[in-house]
Amino acid sequence: MLIFVEIYGKILLVTMFLGVTFVFGFKDKLLSIPFPDTCIVCGKPVSKKEYACFSCQKKIPYISDVFKCRTCLSFLSSSESGICGDCLIKKPDYSRLISCVEYEGYMKKTLRAFKFYNRPDYHIGYSKLACEALERDGTYFDCVVPVPLSTKSLKSRGYNQSLLVANRIAFYFDVPCFDDLLIKTKETKKQSELNLEQRMKNIKGAFSLSNPERLNGLHILLVDDIFTSGCTMREASSVLCKHAENITAFTIARAKFKY
Ligand SMILES: [Zn+2]
Ligand SMILES: [Zn+2]
Repeated sequence: MLIFVEIYGKILLVTMFLGVTFVFGFKDKLLSIPFPDTCIVCGKPVSKKEYACFSCQKKIPYISDVFKCRTCLSFLSSSESGICGDCLIKKPDYSRLISCVEYEGYMKKTLRAFKFYNRPDYHIGYSKLACEALERDGTYFDCVVPVPLSTKSLKSRGYNQSLLVANRIAFYFDVPCFDDLLIKTKETKKQSELNLEQRMKNIKGAFSLSNPERLNGLHILLVDDIFTSGCTMREASSVLCKHAENITAFTIARAKFKY
């Protein structure tokens, strides 16, 4: 019976989501969909204030920035301070990276479902996690910009997971979310299937700006789901920095990149 209720609930949720996006389009409207509050680890229902159930709270691999590089969050060696050697050689155009959890173990299942397997509802829990991390960090930003998908990817996935989280962050901190400003104009291969050199080539020139003067003098919070090699953040920032005053990169998770 419980399994039936769960399956029925998911079908209802997906139907509702597709219906609303079909009728109203994607922009902002997703904020008004009554997605349920679920645990970001196991997917079970939780209260409005929480993003993880009691038994999953201790399983969350939070990221600490102590002794970590400011721009990639990898551990610093004893000879490095603030920024690691790799980031010093090739300095990104964003000033800092903030990320909430390690992309590993328990977190992989829901993050993959969120990204690839039609579970937009997980953005509710991730957004709570994101807002808590940003509030604790205290970093300042004037607006939020999500890393965009190409039109083709958006069509096949049905939603941009980074936009869903970016919208909620903007709502919580009462700043605008510019979701039509940074555009992905190039169809790219899946970064996860490529090595570092191929990733850099793949994402090069993938983004452009519309009405860039809106960014003049602003401090942007650039939001993506997972930071792996950093190529996407670097490329998006290189386009935004021509107008923005400052960019802070933010992701829900950070994956260890295997060179
Ligand atoms: Zn749980
Ligand atoms: Zn670094």
